[in-house]
Amino acid sequence: MNAQDCDRADDDPEGDPSRAFLDTPLAPPRPVPSPTSAPDARQRIEVFRHTHFPDVGDDQWGDWQWQLQHRYRDLKGLSRILTLSDDELTTIQRIGGRLPVGITPYYASLMDPDDPSDPLRMTMVPVEAELVQGPGEADDPLGEDGHMVVPGLVHRYPDRVLFLVTNFCATYCRYCTRARLVGHTGEYHFNKAQYEKAIEYIAAHPEVRDVLLSGGDPLTMGDDRLEWLLERLRAIPHVEFLRIGTKVPLVLPQRVTEKLTSMLKRFHPLWMSVHVMHPNELTPEVAQACDRLSSAGIPLGSQTVLVRGVNDDVETMRRMVHGLLKIRVRPYYLYQCDPISGSAHLRTPIEKGLELVAGLRGFTTGYGVPQFVVDAPGGGGKIALQPTSVVGRDGDDVLLRNYEGNVFRYRDPVGA
Ligand code: SF4
Repeated sequence: MNAQDCDRADDDPEGDPSRAFLDTPLAPPRPVPSPTSAPDARQRIEVFRHTHFPDVGDDQWGDWQWQLQHRYRDLKGLSRILTLSDDELTTIQRIGGRLPVGITPYYASLMDPDDPSDPLRMTMVPVEAELVQGPGEADDPLGEDGHMVVPGLVHRYPDRVLFLVTNFCATYCRYCTRARLVGHTGEYHFNKAQYEKAIEYIAAHPEVRDVLLSGGDPLTMGDDRLEWLLERLRAIPHVEFLRIGTKVPLVLPQRVTEKLTSMLKRFHPLWMSVHVMHPNELTPEVAQACDRLSSAGIPLGSQTVLVRGVNDDVETMRRMVHGLLKIRVRPYYLYQCDPISGSAHLRTPIEKGLELVAGLRGFTTGYGVPQFVVDAPGGGGKIALQPTSVVGRDGDDVLLRNYEGNVFRYRDPVGA
């Protein structure tokens, strides 16, 4: 339906044949589709709850504040729920000033307690390799601090800014680009005076039409604070578009309450990038959280960091993107893991990302193929990479390779 069709329906003249359609009672609410992956997720969660929280009812378990208060943050907590490997155990003891550990009970329940190579566990539990700085690695590999125009506000691209609104996350990912920033200083939330400076900057720069709220994780903030920020940004006439980057719907889906989505939908156009790493994350709880967001009119796109041993094979990627499409999340970016300090064991060769994209394109729905990007070290911005499909030219024909590897001619006369 185009915009003109919408106008006609709104006029709704008496006797219009569409009237009968408009008077038809609405269909009952559609059930939230279950994601394709993690068929045993429900069972895993139940076993975990029964073992570790036998007296905790659904109200508490489903309360996002309760989940945050009961995060596993140290050796004592983690060794209660996981059979730690020697590597994990000694690293957690030594972690010191590095990126902290934090795992919600909900997210911990999705991990295999006995397998250190469980993909979700690998993204959250530190190992010794994290403590070793390799060549080419840096604490701020993207040079964000150099583009920080006021504290917390990064202005790197011409028409948009990155607004870091908190350093608090529900969980701490071992490959985090902002490991230098998140989780430190006692998980201090950025204050209003600092926000005001950023808002002043945005208001004084009419070229800024797009503001991305990130951090840390903006959805860990309380409704009131987030609403205040969105209201202030929405009041700036030249800000056309707001975005939130978050992992919360995956690791703390309880946070996506109806109260939150009712508030968020007042600030459209508001888009959201959800940080998804593996199909095992796509549980019924996550499906419901994403359904609430989508039903509030928030377009959802996924961002995935390519991590060795976690999601670096075509089958895992295919299960993930299929699961995402079923819950109305468009696979958007697949990121090459940034060379943060201590990330060599997590990073894959660039060719791996190209191989994954080649393994998806043509073999599945185009909407399910994310764009593979490298965020250029030093502040060069995102550079999109894709497997080459132009083989060359033969006279007036361009030779193109399709997804099966077959070469076809496309007539494209030189100088036409
Ligand atoms: S949720 Fe995002 S900001 Fe927080 S630790 Fe993970 S990658 Fe970093």
